[in-house]
Amino acid sequence: MSQNVQRLRGTKDLYGDEARQWEKLEAAAAAVFTRFGYEPIRTPILEPYALFSRSVGEITDIVQKEMYRFTDRSGDEVAMRPEGTASVVRAYLQNNLSQERPVRKLYYAGPMFRAERPQAGRLRQFHQIGAEVFGSASAYTDAETMAVLAELLKAAGIAKFRFEINNLGSSGDRAAFGGVLVKFFEGKESGLCKDCQTRLGKNVFRVLDCKNEACRALAADAPLISDHVSDASKADFKLVQALLTDLKLNWSHNPRIIRGLDYYTHTVFEVKHDGLGAQDALGAGGRYDGLVETLGGPATPAVGFAVGVERLFLAAAAETAGAAPAAQPRAGVAIAALGADALRGAFAIAHALRLAGITCHMDLDARSLKAQMRQADRSGARYAVILGSDELAKGAAAVKDLSVSDAPQAEVPLAGLVDFFKQRSN
Ligand code: AMP
Repeated sequence: MSQNVQRLRGTKDLYGDEARQWEKLEAAAAAVFTRFGYEPIRTPILEPYALFSRSVGEITDIVQKEMYRFTDRSGDEVAMRPEGTASVVRAYLQNNLSQERPVRKLYYAGPMFRAERPQAGRLRQFHQIGAEVFGSASAYTDAETMAVLAELLKAAGIAKFRFEINNLGSSGDRAAFGGVLVKFFEGKESGLCKDCQTRLGKNVFRVLDCKNEACRALAADAPLISDHVSDASKADFKLVQALLTDLKLNWSHNPRIIRGLDYYTHTVFEVKHDGLGAQDALGAGGRYDGLVETLGGPATPAVGFAVGVERLFLAAAAETAGAAPAAQPRAGVAIAALGADALRGAFAIAHALRLAGITCHMDLDARSLKAQMRQADRSGARYAVILGSDELAKGAAAVKDLSVSDAPQAEVPLAGLVDFFKQRSN
Protein backbone atom coordinates (compact mmCIF):
# COMPACT_ATOMS: atom_id res chain seq x y z
CA MET A 1 0.00 0.00 0.00
CA SER A 2 1.34 3.43 -0.80
CA GLN A 3 1.98 5.75 2.12
CA ASN A 4 -0.35 8.66 2.75
CA VAL A 5 1.04 12.07 1.92
CA GLN A 6 1.77 13.97 5.13
CA ARG A 7 1.74 17.71 5.64
CA LEU A 8 5.08 19.51 5.59
CA ARG A 9 6.99 20.04 8.84
CA GLY A 10 6.13 23.34 10.49
CA THR A 11 2.67 23.55 8.94
CA LYS A 12 -0.72 22.89 10.52
CA ASP A 13 -4.21 21.77 9.56
CA LEU A 14 -7.02 23.65 11.25
CA TYR A 15 -10.44 22.06 11.61
CA GLY A 16 -13.35 21.69 14.04
CA ASP A 17 -13.40 24.06 17.01
CA GLU A 18 -9.94 25.37 16.22
CA ALA A 19 -10.93 26.47 12.71
CA ARG A 20 -14.05 28.06 14.17
CA GLN A 21 -11.98 29.97 16.72
CA TRP A 22 -9.79 31.31 13.91
CA GLU A 23 -12.78 32.62 12.01
CA LYS A 24 -14.10 34.25 15.16
CA LEU A 25 -10.76 35.90 15.84
CA GLU A 26 -10.46 37.23 12.29
CA ALA A 27 -13.95 38.71 12.52
CA ALA A 28 -13.20 40.24 15.95
CA ALA A 29 -9.96 41.71 14.60
CA ALA A 30 -11.75 43.25 11.62
CA ALA A 31 -14.28 44.83 14.01
CA VAL A 32 -11.51 46.33 16.18
CA PHE A 33 -9.63 47.74 13.18
CA THR A 34 -12.83 49.20 11.74
CA ARG A 35 -13.53 50.98 15.05
CA PHE A 36 -10.09 52.61 14.81
CA GLY A 37 -10.63 53.72 11.20
CA TYR A 38 -8.54 51.07 9.39
CA GLU A 39 -9.52 49.49 6.06
CA PRO A 40 -8.68 45.98 4.88
CA ILE A 41 -6.04 45.15 2.28
CA ARG A 42 -5.14 41.77 0.73
CA THR A 43 -1.89 41.30 -1.11
CA PRO A 44 -0.40 38.25 -2.92
CA ILE A 45 1.52 35.56 -1.08
CA LEU A 46 4.01 35.36 -3.96
CA GLU A 47 6.07 38.47 -4.55
CA PRO A 48 9.26 39.33 -6.43
CA TYR A 49 12.26 38.25 -4.35
CA ALA A 50 13.72 41.75 -4.73
CA LEU A 51 10.85 43.23 -2.70
CA PHE A 52 12.13 41.52 0.43
CA SER A 53 15.84 41.79 -0.20
CA ARG A 54 15.40 45.55 -0.61
CA SER A 55 13.05 46.12 2.33
CA VAL A 56 13.71 43.51 5.02
CA GLY A 57 17.42 43.75 4.23
CA GLU A 58 20.00 41.60 2.45
CA ILE A 59 21.94 40.89 5.66
CA THR A 60 19.07 39.55 7.77
CA ASP A 61 18.31 35.98 8.80
CA ILE A 62 14.91 36.22 7.13
CA VAL A 63 16.37 36.95 3.70
CA GLN A 64 19.58 34.94 4.01
CA LYS A 65 18.34 31.81 5.73
CA GLU A 66 14.58 31.63 6.08
CA MET A 67 12.88 32.77 2.92
CA TYR A 68 11.14 30.34 0.58
CA ARG A 69 12.69 31.61 -2.58
CA PHE A 70 12.76 30.05 -6.03
CA THR A 71 12.94 30.69 -9.74
CA ASP A 72 9.51 30.15 -11.27
CA ARG A 73 8.77 28.56 -14.63
CA SER A 74 9.24 31.82 -16.48
CA GLY A 75 12.62 32.38 -14.85
CA ASP A 76 11.50 35.07 -12.39
CA GLU A 77 13.02 35.15 -8.92
CA VAL A 78 10.06 34.94 -6.56
CA ALA A 79 9.55 34.52 -2.82
CA MET A 80 6.70 33.50 -0.57
CA ARG A 81 6.18 36.46 1.71
CA PRO A 82 7.96 36.12 5.06
CA GLU A 83 6.12 39.15 6.50
CA GLY A 84 3.40 41.59 5.47
CA THR A 85 4.79 45.11 5.60
CA ALA A 86 6.87 45.03 2.41
CA SER A 87 3.89 43.81 0.38
CA VAL A 88 1.57 46.43 1.82
CA VAL A 89 4.09 49.18 1.00
CA ARG A 90 4.44 47.83 -2.53
CA ALA A 91 0.65 47.77 -2.94
CA TYR A 92 0.35 51.26 -1.42
CA LEU A 93 2.74 52.58 -4.06
CA GLN A 94 1.61 50.52 -7.02
CA ASN A 95 -2.07 51.45 -6.52
CA ASN A 96 -1.43 55.10 -5.61
CA LEU A 97 -3.20 54.70 -2.30
CA SER A 98 -1.77 58.00 -1.06
CA GLN A 99 -3.84 59.92 -3.62
CA GLU A 100 -7.27 59.81 -1.98
CA ARG A 101 -6.29 60.64 1.58
CA PRO A 102 -3.11 61.97 3.20
CA VAL A 103 -3.22 59.32 5.92
CA ARG A 104 -4.02 55.75 4.99
CA LYS A 105 -4.67 53.11 7.67
CA LEU A 106 -4.64 49.51 6.44
CA TYR A 107 -4.91 46.09 8.09
CA TYR A 108 -4.31 42.57 6.83
CA ALA A 109 -4.41 38.95 7.96
CA GLY A 110 -2.90 35.91 6.31
CA PRO A 111 -0.17 33.29 6.12
CA MET A 112 3.57 34.09 6.16
CA PHE A 113 6.40 31.67 5.40
CA ARG A 114 9.81 31.26 7.02
CA ALA A 115 11.98 28.13 6.85
CA GLU A 116 12.81 28.17 10.56
CA ARG A 117 13.39 25.21 12.88
CA PRO A 118 9.84 24.33 13.99
CA GLN A 119 9.14 24.33 17.74
CA ALA A 120 6.33 25.38 20.09
CA GLY A 121 5.09 28.74 18.82
CA ARG A 122 7.36 28.67 15.76
CA LEU A 123 6.11 27.35 12.43
CA ARG A 124 7.15 27.50 8.80
CA GLN A 125 3.74 28.60 7.68
CA PHE A 126 2.40 30.86 10.40
CA HIS A 127 -0.20 33.59 10.32
CA GLN A 128 -0.07 37.24 11.11
CA ILE A 129 -2.61 39.96 11.65
CA GLY A 130 -1.04 43.31 11.04
CA ALA A 131 -1.65 46.98 10.39
CA GLU A 132 0.18 49.82 8.68
CA VAL A 133 -0.43 53.58 8.79
CA PHE A 134 1.05 55.74 6.02
CA GLY A 135 1.42 59.49 5.98
CA SER A 136 1.60 60.41 9.66
CA ALA A 137 4.82 61.25 11.50
CA SER A 138 2.99 62.04 14.75
CA ALA A 139 3.91 60.42 18.04
CA TYR A 140 0.14 60.18 18.55
CA THR A 141 0.02 57.75 15.62
CA ASP A 142 2.66 55.58 17.31
CA ALA A 143 0.52 55.53 20.47
CA GLU A 144 -2.71 54.89 18.52
CA THR A 145 -1.02 51.97 16.73
CA MET A 146 -0.16 50.40 20.07
CA ALA A 147 -3.70 51.12 21.33
CA VAL A 148 -5.31 49.24 18.43
CA LEU A 149 -2.88 46.38 18.99
CA ALA A 150 -3.86 46.24 22.68
CA GLU A 151 -7.56 46.12 21.75
CA LEU A 152 -6.86 43.35 19.27
CA LEU A 153 -5.19 41.30 22.00
CA LYS A 154 -8.11 41.90 24.35
CA ALA A 155 -10.52 40.79 21.62
CA ALA A 156 -8.44 37.59 21.39
CA GLY A 157 -9.06 36.97 25.10
CA ILE A 158 -5.61 38.07 26.27
CA ALA A 159 -5.22 40.44 29.22
CA LYS A 160 -1.71 39.90 30.60
CA PHE A 161 0.46 41.40 27.88
CA ARG A 162 3.08 44.11 28.15
CA PHE A 163 4.76 46.43 25.70
CA GLU A 164 8.51 46.88 25.57
CA ILE A 165 9.48 49.95 23.59
CA ASN A 166 12.67 51.53 22.35
CA ASN A 167 13.80 54.43 20.20
CA LEU A 168 16.05 53.74 17.20
CA GLY A 169 16.17 57.37 16.02
CA SER A 170 16.15 58.51 12.41
CA SER A 171 17.97 56.55 9.70
CA GLY A 172 20.76 59.15 10.02
CA ASP A 173 20.96 58.56 13.79
CA ARG A 174 21.05 54.86 13.10
CA ALA A 175 23.83 55.10 10.55
CA ALA A 176 25.93 57.23 12.94
CA PHE A 177 25.28 54.77 15.75
CA GLY A 178 26.45 51.98 13.44
CA GLY A 179 29.86 53.67 13.51
CA VAL A 180 29.77 53.79 17.32
CA LEU A 181 28.99 50.07 17.41
CA VAL A 182 31.75 49.13 14.97
CA LYS A 183 34.20 51.02 17.23
CA PHE A 184 32.85 49.21 20.28
CA PHE A 185 33.45 45.79 18.68
CA GLU A 186 36.96 46.72 17.46
CA GLY A 187 39.47 44.35 19.04
CA LYS A 188 36.65 42.04 20.18
CA GLU A 189 36.14 40.33 16.79
CA SER A 190 37.64 37.01 17.84
CA GLY A 191 35.01 36.66 20.57
CA LEU A 192 32.20 36.78 18.01
CA CYS A 193 30.71 33.90 16.00
CA LYS A 194 31.67 33.55 12.31
CA ASP A 195 28.36 35.07 11.13
CA CYS A 196 28.82 38.12 13.36
CA GLN A 197 32.38 38.66 12.17
CA THR A 198 30.89 39.08 8.68
CA ARG A 199 28.00 41.16 10.03
CA LEU A 200 30.46 43.64 11.57
CA GLY A 201 31.47 44.83 8.11
CA LYS A 202 28.02 44.64 6.53
CA ASN A 203 25.32 45.31 9.11
CA VAL A 204 26.67 45.68 12.64
CA PHE A 205 23.13 45.93 14.13
CA ARG A 206 22.60 42.24 13.46
CA VAL A 207 25.35 41.45 15.98
CA LEU A 208 23.06 42.86 18.68
CA ASP A 209 20.35 40.28 18.10
CA CYS A 210 22.57 37.26 17.42
CA LYS A 211 21.42 34.29 19.50
CA ASN A 212 24.94 32.90 20.07
CA GLU A 213 25.86 33.00 23.80
CA ALA A 214 29.32 34.53 23.29
CA CYS A 215 27.94 37.25 21.00
CA ARG A 216 25.17 37.99 23.48
CA ALA A 217 27.64 38.34 26.33
CA LEU A 218 29.74 40.81 24.33
CA ALA A 219 26.69 42.73 23.08
CA ALA A 220 25.41 43.13 26.65
CA ASP A 221 27.99 45.89 27.23
CA ALA A 222 27.45 47.62 23.87
CA PRO A 223 26.34 51.27 23.91
CA LEU A 224 22.58 51.86 23.68
CA ILE A 225 21.03 53.34 20.57
CA SER A 226 18.38 55.37 22.40
CA ASP A 227 21.23 57.36 24.01
CA HIS A 228 22.56 58.26 20.55
CA VAL A 229 19.50 59.74 18.83
CA SER A 230 18.69 63.38 18.04
CA ASP A 231 16.95 65.61 20.59
CA ALA A 232 13.84 65.78 18.39
CA SER A 233 13.57 61.98 18.33
CA LYS A 234 14.12 61.86 22.11
CA ALA A 235 11.31 64.39 22.64
CA ASP A 236 8.94 62.39 20.41
CA PHE A 237 9.79 59.21 22.28
CA LYS A 238 9.00 60.96 25.58
CA LEU A 239 5.61 61.99 24.17
CA VAL A 240 4.90 58.42 23.03
CA GLN A 241 5.65 57.24 26.57
CA ALA A 242 3.32 59.84 28.10
CA LEU A 243 0.53 58.87 25.69
CA LEU A 244 0.92 55.16 26.47
CA THR A 245 0.59 56.00 30.15
CA ASP A 246 -2.54 58.08 29.40
CA LEU A 247 -3.94 55.07 27.53
CA LYS A 248 -3.19 52.92 30.61
CA LEU A 249 -1.11 50.49 28.57
CA ASN A 250 1.39 48.32 30.41
CA TRP A 251 4.75 49.42 28.97
CA SER A 252 8.44 49.67 29.80
CA HIS A 253 11.50 50.98 28.02
CA ASN A 254 13.77 48.16 26.89
CA PRO A 255 16.89 49.81 25.43
CA ARG A 256 18.09 46.45 23.99
CA ILE A 257 15.30 46.14 21.41
CA ILE A 258 16.76 46.51 17.92
CA ARG A 259 14.30 44.45 15.83
CA GLY A 260 15.39 41.95 13.22
CA LEU A 261 14.43 44.00 10.18
CA ASP A 262 16.46 46.82 8.69
CA TYR A 263 13.69 49.28 8.01
CA TYR A 264 12.71 50.41 11.51
CA THR A 265 13.26 53.97 12.78
CA HIS A 266 12.27 55.95 15.91
CA THR A 267 9.70 54.14 18.09
CA VAL A 268 9.84 50.35 17.94
CA PHE A 269 8.02 47.91 20.19
CA GLU A 270 7.47 44.30 21.08
CA VAL A 271 4.45 42.98 22.89
CA LYS A 272 5.19 40.09 25.22
CA HIS A 273 3.33 37.47 27.20
CA ASP A 274 4.67 35.31 30.03
CA GLY A 275 2.58 32.28 29.07
CA LEU A 276 4.50 31.66 25.83
CA GLY A 277 7.77 30.17 27.09
CA ALA A 278 10.91 30.87 25.05
CA GLN A 279 9.02 32.43 22.13
CA ASP A 280 7.50 35.14 24.35
CA ALA A 281 6.73 37.75 21.65
CA LEU A 282 3.07 38.01 20.66
CA GLY A 283 3.86 40.68 18.14
CA ALA A 284 6.11 43.53 17.19
CA GLY A 285 6.26 46.67 15.17
CA GLY A 286 7.29 50.25 15.02
CA ARG A 287 7.92 53.23 12.85
CA TYR A 288 9.60 52.80 9.45
CA ASP A 289 9.87 56.27 7.98
CA GLY A 290 12.38 55.34 5.28
CA LEU A 291 10.84 52.22 3.76
CA VAL A 292 8.40 53.77 1.29
CA GLU A 293 11.29 55.75 -0.18
CA THR A 294 13.55 52.69 -0.22
CA LEU A 295 10.94 50.93 -2.34
CA GLY A 296 10.83 53.78 -4.83
CA GLY A 297 8.09 56.05 -3.43
CA PRO A 298 8.15 59.56 -2.04
CA ALA A 299 9.40 60.11 1.52
CA THR A 300 6.44 58.92 3.61
CA PRO A 301 6.35 58.41 7.38
CA ALA A 302 4.81 55.08 8.38
CA VAL A 303 4.20 52.89 11.40
CA GLY A 304 2.82 49.38 11.80
CA PHE A 305 2.83 46.07 13.62
CA ALA A 306 2.17 42.37 13.17
CA VAL A 307 1.04 39.78 15.69
CA GLY A 308 1.39 36.02 15.33
CA VAL A 309 -2.05 34.40 15.32
CA GLU A 310 -0.80 31.00 16.57
CA ARG A 311 0.80 32.77 19.53
CA LEU A 312 -2.41 34.68 20.28
CA PHE A 313 -4.17 31.37 20.75
CA LEU A 314 -1.32 29.99 22.90
CA ALA A 315 -1.43 33.08 25.13
CA ALA A 316 -5.22 33.04 25.41
CA ALA A 317 -5.08 29.34 26.32
CA ALA A 318 -2.39 30.02 28.95
CA GLU A 319 -4.64 32.63 30.57
CA THR A 320 -7.69 30.38 30.70
CA ALA A 321 -5.79 27.20 31.68
CA GLY A 322 -7.82 25.27 34.25
CA ALA A 323 -11.05 27.12 33.51
CA ALA A 324 -13.89 25.02 32.10
CA PRO A 325 -14.42 25.78 28.41
CA ALA A 326 -17.52 27.90 27.84
CA ALA A 327 -20.43 25.77 26.68
CA GLN A 328 -21.60 26.65 23.18
CA PRO A 329 -25.32 27.53 23.22
CA ARG A 330 -27.35 25.34 20.92
CA ALA A 331 -28.53 27.05 17.74
CA GLY A 332 -30.29 26.23 14.50
CA VAL A 333 -32.33 23.28 13.37
CA ALA A 334 -31.66 19.65 12.45
CA ILE A 335 -34.20 17.79 10.34
CA ALA A 336 -34.74 14.05 10.57
CA ALA A 337 -36.78 12.50 7.76
CA LEU A 338 -38.13 8.95 7.57
CA GLY A 339 -39.10 7.47 4.23
CA ALA A 340 -38.67 8.61 0.63
CA ASP A 341 -41.62 11.03 0.57
CA ALA A 342 -40.67 12.62 3.86
CA LEU A 343 -37.06 12.99 2.66
CA ARG A 344 -38.25 14.90 -0.40
CA GLY A 345 -40.50 17.18 1.69
CA ALA A 346 -37.82 17.69 4.35
CA PHE A 347 -35.24 18.54 1.70
CA ALA A 348 -37.46 21.41 0.51
CA ILE A 349 -38.06 22.58 4.10
CA ALA A 350 -34.30 22.58 4.82
CA HIS A 351 -33.69 24.74 1.77
CA ALA A 352 -36.48 27.16 2.74
CA LEU A 353 -35.07 27.48 6.28
CA ARG A 354 -31.57 28.17 4.95
CA LEU A 355 -32.89 30.81 2.55
CA ALA A 356 -34.61 32.42 5.55
CA GLY A 357 -31.23 32.65 7.30
CA ILE A 358 -31.69 29.74 9.70
CA THR A 359 -28.85 27.24 10.15
CA CYS A 360 -30.17 23.84 9.19
CA HIS A 361 -28.52 20.40 9.37
CA MET A 362 -29.94 17.40 7.58
CA ASP A 363 -28.92 13.82 6.86
CA LEU A 364 -29.48 13.14 3.15
CA ASP A 365 -28.61 9.43 3.24
CA ALA A 366 -31.84 8.01 4.63
CA ARG A 367 -30.27 6.61 7.81
CA SER A 368 -32.39 5.26 10.69
CA LEU A 369 -34.32 7.70 12.88
CA LYS A 370 -32.07 6.82 15.81
CA ALA A 371 -28.95 7.63 13.76
CA GLN A 372 -30.45 10.88 12.53
CA MET A 373 -31.42 11.95 16.06
CA ARG A 374 -27.90 11.18 17.27
CA GLN A 375 -26.51 13.36 14.48
CA ALA A 376 -29.01 16.11 15.31
CA ASP A 377 -27.73 16.09 18.88
CA ARG A 378 -24.06 16.21 17.78
CA SER A 379 -24.70 19.00 15.31
CA GLY A 380 -25.33 21.43 18.15
CA ALA A 381 -28.78 22.29 16.79
CA ARG A 382 -31.30 23.74 19.22
CA TYR A 383 -34.33 22.10 17.59
CA ALA A 384 -34.94 18.77 15.90
CA VAL A 385 -37.68 18.56 13.29
CA ILE A 386 -39.02 15.06 12.71
CA LEU A 387 -40.87 14.30 9.53
CA GLY A 388 -42.24 10.84 8.74
CA SER A 389 -45.20 9.59 6.74
CA ASP A 390 -47.64 10.26 9.66
CA GLU A 391 -46.47 13.86 9.92
CA LEU A 392 -46.66 14.31 6.14
CA ALA A 393 -50.23 13.06 6.16
CA LYS A 394 -51.10 15.50 8.95
CA GLY A 395 -49.27 18.38 7.23
CA ALA A 396 -47.38 19.09 10.44
CA ALA A 397 -43.89 18.22 11.73
CA ALA A 398 -42.89 17.19 15.24
CA VAL A 399 -40.49 19.73 16.76
CA LYS A 400 -38.32 18.94 19.77
CA ASP A 401 -36.26 21.42 21.80
CA LEU A 402 -32.88 19.70 22.22
CA SER A 403 -31.69 22.16 24.87
CA VAL A 404 -34.19 20.79 27.39
CA SER A 405 -34.03 17.13 28.35
CA ASP A 406 -37.33 15.29 27.93
CA ALA A 407 -39.04 18.35 26.47
CA PRO A 408 -42.47 17.48 25.01
CA GLN A 409 -42.67 17.50 21.22
CA ALA A 410 -44.69 20.29 19.62
CA GLU A 411 -46.67 19.93 16.43
CA VAL A 412 -46.00 22.70 13.95
CA PRO A 413 -47.83 22.98 10.59
CA LEU A 414 -45.39 22.56 7.68
CA ALA A 415 -46.51 25.86 6.13
CA GLY A 416 -45.65 27.68 9.36
CA LEU A 417 -42.23 26.08 10.04
CA VAL A 418 -40.08 28.87 8.63
CA ASP A 419 -41.96 31.51 10.66
CA PHE A 420 -41.85 29.32 13.77
CA PHE A 421 -38.04 29.17 13.67
CA LYS A 422 -37.61 32.75 12.53
CA GLN A 423 -39.39 33.88 15.69
CA ARG A 424 -37.13 31.66 17.77
CA SER A 425 -33.77 32.48 16.19
CA ASN A 426 -31.75 35.41 17.41
P1 AMP B 1 8.30 39.54 13.10
O1 AMP B 1 7.71 39.78 11.73
O2 AMP B 1 9.47 38.63 13.09
O3 AMP B 1 8.50 40.81 13.87
O4 AMP B 1 7.20 38.73 13.89
C1 AMP B 1 6.02 39.28 14.39
C2 AMP B 1 5.26 38.21 15.14
O5 AMP B 1 4.93 37.15 14.25
C3 AMP B 1 6.07 37.54 16.23
O6 AMP B 1 6.01 38.27 17.42
C4 AMP B 1 5.38 36.21 16.35
O7 AMP B 1 4.20 36.33 17.13
C5 AMP B 1 4.99 35.92 14.94
N1 AMP B 1 5.97 35.03 14.29
C6 AMP B 1 7.12 35.37 13.66
N2 AMP B 1 7.74 34.28 13.17
C7 AMP B 1 6.97 33.22 13.51
C8 AMP B 1 7.05 31.81 13.28
N3 AMP B 1 8.05 31.26 12.59
N4 AMP B 1 6.06 31.02 13.77
C9 AMP B 1 5.03 31.55 14.46
N5 AMP B 1 4.89 32.87 14.69
C10 AMP B 1 5.84 33.69 14.23
